[in-house]
Amino acid sequence: MLKVSPVGDKDRLLTLLSDECGVIRAFAKGARSLKNKNFAVCTQFVYGSFEIYKSRDYYSVSESSPLQLFEALSGDLSKLSLAQYFCELASLLAPSETYAHDFLRVMRVALYYLSAGEKDARQLKAALEMRLLSMAGYMPDLRMCRECGAYTAPEMRFFHSEGIILCGDCAAAGGVGGATGVNGTSGTGGASVAGGTGGASGRYGQSGGYSSLGEDALSALRYSVYAEQKVLFSFSSSGVALGQFCDAAERYLISKIERVPKTLEFYRNLPEG
Ligand SMILES: [Zn+2]
Repeated sequence: MLKVSPVGDKDRLLTLLSDECGVIRAFAKGARSLKNKNFAVCTQFVYGSFEIYKSRDYYSVSESSPLQLFEALSGDLSKLSLAQYFCELASLLAPSETYAHDFLRVMRVALYYLSAGEKDARQLKAALEMRLLSMAGYMPDLRMCRECGAYTAPEMRFFHSEGIILCGDCAAAGGVGGATGVNGTSGTGGASVAGGTGGASGRYGQSGGYSSLGEDALSALRYSVYAEQKVLFSFSSSGVALGQFCDAAERYLISKIERVPKTLEFYRNLPEG
């Protein structure tokens, strides 16, 4: 369940991420009443089974049963707001009216880890951002430096609008254009190195910024894009590398969807801790 909105005094409009139909909006008639059979399941984040039928041009829920509730999310404002952001991302990036099993699975695992508190929340967020974008058709090419083919380098620059990487040497040799004024905005951990070297003749970074990545941050970014889905969240990143990875993922996301989602803004503005 990505979102629940009230409709009038009695009904609810549900935004669901479904296995077979992707993102779907369906009415739950009477579901604002305590006595309604669908009352209990009409809550955000729940994973469950829903019987949905189509009449004229809208969908309605007839039967539903909750299977997994992620209850720990509601007691923690930071987790709750991050979970809301995850749901907004899914509603923006998952397809509609088509099979979306992979999206559903990755969301369910992400919410599980967030709820259980077993993984670093920032790492979960960055990995989910990169994976959902990749699944939605925005997979970057992180295999090697686009110019010289280097697989690793002390510094790699990840160009958001092109979705490619350049090693520090090739970037310094003139691959980089006027990426001025695009600074790290998220405050994800102090290690964001913001783009902008001036110079107007480069081929990359003309229309967007880049993130500077050390070797560990690049590994984390690669992992989040290329790892098998079942082990997507099974890596660990920390310190400077985690800060760079988180910053790069968030900025890449914003460059692709061309805005800052409301729920992300809310999450960013929460007091630390
Ligand atoms: Zn290079």
